[in-house]
Amino acid sequence: MTTTNQYDVVIVGGGHNGLVAAAYLARTGRRVLVLERRPVVGGAAVSEHPFGPDYTVTSLSYVVSWLSPRMVRDLDLVRYGYHVYPQGPYFAPRRDGRYLSLPNDPTARHAEIAKFSKKDADAYEAWDRWFAGLGKLVGPLLQQIPPKLGSKRPADLLAQAALARRLRGVDVRAAFDLTRLFTASLADVVEERFESDAMRGVLSVSGVIGMWAGPRSAGTAYVMLHHHVGDAVEGQTGAWGFARGGMGAISEAIAASARAGGAEIRTSAEVRRIVTSGGRVTGVVLASGEEIAAPTVVTTVHPKIAFLDMIEPDTLPPDFVADIAAYQTRSGTVKVNFAVDRLPTFTSHPEFDPQVHGGTIVLAESLDDVEQAFRDAASGRPAEFPFADICIPSVFDDSLAPPGHHIVSMFTQWVPSNYAMQPHRDELTAYADRLTARMEAVAPGFIDSMVGRQVIGPHQMQTEYGLVGGNIFHGELTPGQMFHMRPAAGYADLRTPITGLYQAGSATHGGGGVTGVPGRNVVGQIERDQRRRRFRR
Ligand SMILES: Cc1cc2nc3c(=O)[nH]c(=O)nc-3n(C[C@H](O)[C@H](O)[C@H](O)COP(=O)(O)OP(=O)(O)OC[C@H]3O[C@@H](n4cnc5c(N)ncnc54)[C@H](O)[C@@H]3O)c2cc1C
Repeated sequence: MTTTNQYDVVIVGGGHNGLVAAAYLARTGRRVLVLERRPVVGGAAVSEHPFGPDYTVTSLSYVVSWLSPRMVRDLDLVRYGYHVYPQGPYFAPRRDGRYLSLPNDPTARHAEIAKFSKKDADAYEAWDRWFAGLGKLVGPLLQQIPPKLGSKRPADLLAQAALARRLRGVDVRAAFDLTRLFTASLADVVEERFESDAMRGVLSVSGVIGMWAGPRSAGTAYVMLHHHVGDAVEGQTGAWGFARGGMGAISEAIAASARAGGAEIRTSAEVRRIVTSGGRVTGVVLASGEEIAAPTVVTTVHPKIAFLDMIEPDTLPPDFVADIAAYQTRSGTVKVNFAVDRLPTFTSHPEFDPQVHGGTIVLAESLDDVEQAFRDAASGRPAEFPFADICIPSVFDDSLAPPGHHIVSMFTQWVPSNYAMQPHRDELTAYADRLTARMEAVAPGFIDSMVGRQVIGPHQMQTEYGLVGGNIFHGELTPGQMFHMRPAAGYADLRTPITGLYQAGSATHGGGGVTGVPGRNVVGQIERDQRRRRFRR
């Protein structure tokens, strides 16, 4: 057994958050080591080659919105290949041969929605403004470390006061609307404003992405807002885009930036244990038996892995262990990726249009169509008609597939959440067949165009990618697991009960998506704590 002792900080997990933390830490002059279990970095933001070297597939996450322009500049990511193509607008082809689209231009959008309902067309503009306004209030909160609500320590009281100052922009109306969004179902807020199935169906999808909850479940209204606060497409709050080279290219760019700052990144390096002594972290032990000592360790893996598997439970307070054990992390998501030898031809819109083929293509006929898919899964069987949020990034990005060929990424839900425990291969194949048939129904010839199909269900997400329970965000984004509640009482500040051990994965506030926020914020927290310790000495 060898012991290495040359690092100031060891980071467990080389997903994008671990890499962001490494890049910022390396810039402070600290000696940093990232340990990633898989042979590639990126975690859920990864590009792989399941159909051979000619095709690059963004295996899991597929679009970027939350990675801030500031972080892109801080880490010099453009220099390392970061480039985002703005995604086109919503396009929802329907079984009856019609389509609903939501172009960016307000006049064109009004005309498109009015094909289904004049009332909905009139209502949409107010809805859009309402969401944009609330998004501006909530967006900045995603960037900050939540204060420890309930704590009476002077530093925590100051942080609580700072939060109150930040909330100055929230007037009576906004306080009412936000409370409603946090507690209501998506159906509650959508159905009172829109009457057409087409409009209700499209709006449903963004509120249930990654959720183990249908649009009629409480709390889903907020998730819709969560998807409207990013600014990765500079100057357009709430806009989404495709990273050139897939989401893995973002991780690779961050990794290159970290290496340039002096960080070391080791892949195929599985951490087995986080070692502590007398309430302090002292290092990690790898599956190979190698021990690496470090006074500071940052875990970015799922908290159930970090705190229930990697650390001796009796070294942690029972309340903390109970909170992590009770932390909900289901989702029933299935990602289905295709390589095709031509673009789909939609019956409703046969001609090529980058705004259509390069847009957010939604298969959802109505809100109840989406709700039924959830009810199927909640009652123990995979959805008969899975909904899909589809994109074809190769419309803009010619690095992904040979000329004329394309990558079609389908984010779909639901299968039963307990599919995380077993592979359920046959059921997933049948599910993907029904999904493929659904696409064929609106784009005849799609099946014939298929060169390859990859199906990643909850079990593979859990065992291969470390997404416990198959939850895409390292834990459900429900009001009970957000802000000061994420992931345990008193530890939303990226610290843990162990001195020197920090957390910065998606299960902390600001995470849940490719945001880089926990990875960046943890660096400030480490520096503050080290300054405080130096001052006390
Ligand atoms: C299907 C799907 C679609 C999604 N779509 C989007 C999207 O379009 N846009 C978006 O913004 N977000 C999306 N997300 C969410 C987003 O991808 C994740 O929230 C984010 O990538 C998580 O980043 P992370 O660094 O916190 O964790 P991870 O990416 O999970 O990184 C943790 C890393 O730790 C490693 N690890 C685990 N155990 C060990 C160990 N014992 N030792 C060492 N390393 C270990 C893992 O291999 C992994 O690389 C999606 C996720 C999924 C699954």
